[in-house]
Amino acid sequence: MVTEAVSMNKPHYTKEEKKAIRRKILSWFEANQRDLPWRRNYDPYQVWISEIMGQQTQMERVVDYFTRWMEKFPDVIAVAEASERKILKAWEGLGYYSRAKNIHRTAKLLVQKYDGRIPEEPQQLRTLPGIGPYTAAAIASIAYNKPCPLLDANVERLFARLIDLGVPVKQAPAPEILRKLAEKLLPTNNARLFNQALMEFGALVCTPRNPACTTCTLVEFCRARRRKTVEQRPMAGKKTKKIDIIMACGIIRRNDAFYIQRRLADDVWGGLWEFPGGRLKDDETPEQAVCREILEETEFSVFRLRPLATVVHHYTKYRVTLHGFTCSLRKSSETPVLHAADRYIWVPLSGLADFPFPAGHRKLLAILPDKIK
Ligand code: SF4
Repeated sequence: MVTEAVSMNKPHYTKEEKKAIRRKILSWFEANQRDLPWRRNYDPYQVWISEIMGQQTQMERVVDYFTRWMEKFPDVIAVAEASERKILKAWEGLGYYSRAKNIHRTAKLLVQKYDGRIPEEPQQLRTLPGIGPYTAAAIASIAYNKPCPLLDANVERLFARLIDLGVPVKQAPAPEILRKLAEKLLPTNNARLFNQALMEFGALVCTPRNPACTTCTLVEFCRARRRKTVEQRPMAGKKTKKIDIIMACGIIRRNDAFYIQRRLADDVWGGLWEFPGGRLKDDETPEQAVCREILEETEFSVFRLRPLATVVHHYTKYRVTLHGFTCSLRKSSETPVLHAADRYIWVPLSGLADFPFPAGHRKLLAILPDKIK
């Protein structure tokens, strides 16, 4: 059913209403914005890093990672000159490691082509690795105050409620309706604060559950509130079920050192370090999978497997259960033949923390010191 609120052509607000919405949201932002480190001077490098870190990550975590990142890499040149291992280590735990690798690639390009500066125009920004339409608009508007509309999940939810949108936000014609509304509401001279005000308002007031409608400064413009449909907005889209993946890995110990290897660059989690292992085949036990995977990946033959722990990690599309074992080499003098990695190293326990690991392996690492005493 195409409701009034889904109409593409009907303006949602009069000129006066749009002005009032801008005024109200900006004064709310002035009084309520969070003190975030990149808001202190809107340095384009800091805005860029905060935007990439902020994708799919909660704000408290972003602030922590951002602060540590800036201590290690205070500018574009520091990123460009760092090793990939250092970059991945600083990113460890944030997930989606291609984002960190793209930051690294982009920093090198910025030094080569732009003298270390971040371009102002969205078209130029979009030519850089890892910067799509949303991030380009975010950098252009927040760092340079360019009049580019921005729609993140918080703004989509706020708009869907304001106009009582009767279709899921990702389903046609919703994206077009929301884009047009964002364009029409955007003030030409204050995109920096207005875009942030909308996102902040969505994050703090018009929240997914229990929005603060009774104290909301935009209540008079909110059709969902008027029609009592707030709880149904935004409309839910189709849910995809997570895929279950069962894996096993072996932590090989030789004297006081542990074997780790670096994943191939074009592999999932490429560039991260890991204990060798992989997915269980049908009818295989985790112990059998560890022995087979280690043999296939390194040509090592291992024995004396002891369960260390089983950890579960959730990704957007997957739920990974990882069975970790400690084990020993049958022939301790063997060197590995690498089939699924480009480097290996034997590291003492105290040195393992210097390497970036995928989430499941990091969880095993946290347990390891207590279990091997
Ligand atoms: S009235 Fe409620 S639903 Fe409407 S914009 Fe305000 S907080 Fe969101």
